[in-house]
Amino acid sequence: MSRTIMAVNAGSSSLKFQLLVLPAGTVLCQGLIERIGLSDAVFTLRQGEQKWQETRAIASHHEAASLLLEKLLEHQIIASLSAIDGVGHRVAHGGEAFKDSALITDEALAEIERLAELAPLHNPVNAAGIRIFRQALPHAPAVAVFDTAFHQTLDQGAFVYPLPWRYYAEMGIRRYGFHGTSHKYVSHLLAEKLGVPLSALRVVSCHLGNGSSLCAIKGGRSVNTSMGFTPQSGVMMGTRSGDIDPSILPWMALREGQTPQQLNALLNNESGLLGVSGVSHDYRDVEQAADAGNPRAALALSLFAERIRATIGQYVMQLGGIDALLFTGGIGENSARAREAICRDLHFLGLELDEEKNQYSATFIQSERSIVKVAVINTNEELMIARDVMRIGFVQATEEVQ
Ligand code: ADP
Repeated sequence: MSRTIMAVNAGSSSLKFQLLVLPAGTVLCQGLIERIGLSDAVFTLRQGEQKWQETRAIASHHEAASLLLEKLLEHQIIASLSAIDGVGHRVAHGGEAFKDSALITDEALAEIERLAELAPLHNPVNAAGIRIFRQALPHAPAVAVFDTAFHQTLDQGAFVYPLPWRYYAEMGIRRYGFHGTSHKYVSHLLAEKLGVPLSALRVVSCHLGNGSSLCAIKGGRSVNTSMGFTPQSGVMMGTRSGDIDPSILPWMALREGQTPQQLNALLNNESGLLGVSGVSHDYRDVEQAADAGNPRAALALSLFAERIRATIGQYVMQLGGIDALLFTGGIGENSARAREAICRDLHFLGLELDEEKNQYSATFIQSERSIVKVAVINTNEELMIARDVMRIGFVQATEEVQ
């Protein structure tokens, strides 16, 4: 049965949405509301080639959601609100409670709010988004899709930090990992494209965007991932440092009197490609600067690739080999240069790129003699969210009918 599903991604000052028809996966429209809370918020709605945009005051997420639904009616994308059959919400943190996407009940919503302790910037705004759409579309089942859930298969050896035990036992400090929806989606699509069951594959998935993370996937299960207790750890990113010696932080605090909030901002917003290059957080800008002879930009690109290579090396050891290396995210999908830098000199692993296929981002970019497959797969978190609404949101109704 065909259903219209809204995928919602609420950020601290933004709300992204996509309206899809499942199971076909057709996109009816998509859009974004930015700068929520300001007098010059921007509402953008796209339907195919058509685009509507307006700048106006939008005081709250509540107002943003109302405006969005109003616009869907005004532009006749839907005939009435009852045409939206289900809503899927991206939720940052599911802690240890959510090992899969979940139907939103009062209890589930309370748990998401409780988990704000672990994701103070994201979970409260995700929960607010859920409440708003629940109120506006009371007939539509809502499903939460967690960035962390796919990584709940990690075993203790991969998720425990070697700290005093009580920090895990009493405070939940452990590796959770993020980008799970993307790693899951691209690894499933990879198996489909290879015509091999995912259960038979050892995959390293590289989601490289403004935020970047790697995931080691064995038999379809995440066995390790580079982001940790927060999305700050792991490989180097646009503005995040990724892993550094942890003692640098108390050193900075003592030496410069930096507060925890300032240190957080420094690690999250001022580091990574931006911090090293001094040019930009954006990979393309850093590439341009490197080509123009900026040595720090060149160093930033090389650090970016080296830290990914080191993580791939770690995962190959943990997986006991590798069948496929996967690239996704803005950089992974588009930058032949990044992929080449990451894959250089890996003949010893049985991995070699086909230069030409890499240049035009073909789906498979390994050379003929490469034993390891190397794939470029566009991620589509909205589709994954909508599919989870189909899988989880309507089960009860179907059971009742049966
Ligand atoms: P987010 O994590 O915010 O979703 P994206 O996945 O959109 O980010 O990735 C953004 C990154 O992708 C930016 O660093 C951008 O420079 C890079 N990128 C996008 N297109 C290209 C391209 N053609 N070549 C190189 N880098 C690209």
